Amino acid sequence: MGTIFNERVIEDFMLMCKKGVDQGWHERNGGNLSYRMTKDDVEYCARFFKKHPGEWVEMPVSANNLKGEFFIVTGSGKFLENVNTEPQNNIAIVEINQTGNSYRIVWGLDQGGKPTSEFPTHFLTHSARKMATDGDNRVIYHAHTPYVVALTNVLPLESELFTRMLWKSATECCLFCPGGVGVVPWMVPGSTEIAECTSDLLSKYDAAIWAFHGAFVTGKDFDSAFGLMQTIEKSAMVATITLAANAGKMPNQTITDDQLREMAKAYNIRLNEDFLK
Ligand SMILES: [Zn+2]
Repeated sequence: MGTIFNERVIEDFMLMCKKGVDQGWHERNGGNLSYRMTKDDVEYCARFFKKHPGEWVEMPVSANNLKGEFFIVTGSGKFLENVNTEPQNNIAIVEINQTGNSYRIVWGLDQGGKPTSEFPTHFLTHSARKMATDGDNRVIYHAHTPYVVALTNVLPLESELFTRMLWKSATECCLFCPGGVGVVPWMVPGSTEIAECTSDLLSKYDAAIWAFHGAFVTGKDFDSAFGLMQTIEKSAMVATITLAANAGKMPNQTITDDQLREMAKAYNIRLNEDFLK
């Protein structure tokens, strides 16, 4: 019969947690990950579901287009570095009810617990991305990326300025983040307010920067979401080093807007023109 851990999607979920920890992005219980399961994923995993699922828990948010969906999600207060040694106690599969406003745990968190405190943000963002990408987008990932956080301490918290700085700091950033990034001002993590603001930005952009906190990215699969986080953090690192080497002033020798357009043409991608001059 095997175990649920033979299922590729569970392996991939656990591997992504490890890769984030290896990058140093998940101190203590920092960061979280969720994945909207396919019908095939659910079919395979269902044989391992609890005989008695948890109680339905009403959420402060709801989404019509997520009725009856299943998500794999990290647990609230759980450390991502423990996911690989004790997955059954640190991650869960949750089912959404037919009203789209409550969840119940059908697998995992065997020693008790609930989905990440950022689940409202994940949930609303899954809803926005499912709609924006015609169901293609399945992964939402939040990490405490130090260079992104550092930049929010020194640059004005504006989506256009951050997107241009990231695109112009490393040549390939624009290829993998063509929609740009939206900046969320400081808000209390786990709040409905930050969930609504983040999902709103992620209906338009590829990623959201949380001021003084980290980043939220989306992707069609684990590799593309993780790769986007890495790409943004690498560009933020170059930008931070550049600002430090340039006495804190914005550099005047960077990739030009026309060069960004050349990249877009050569690689057949559509850059968000709102951010070009
Ligand atoms: Zn966080």
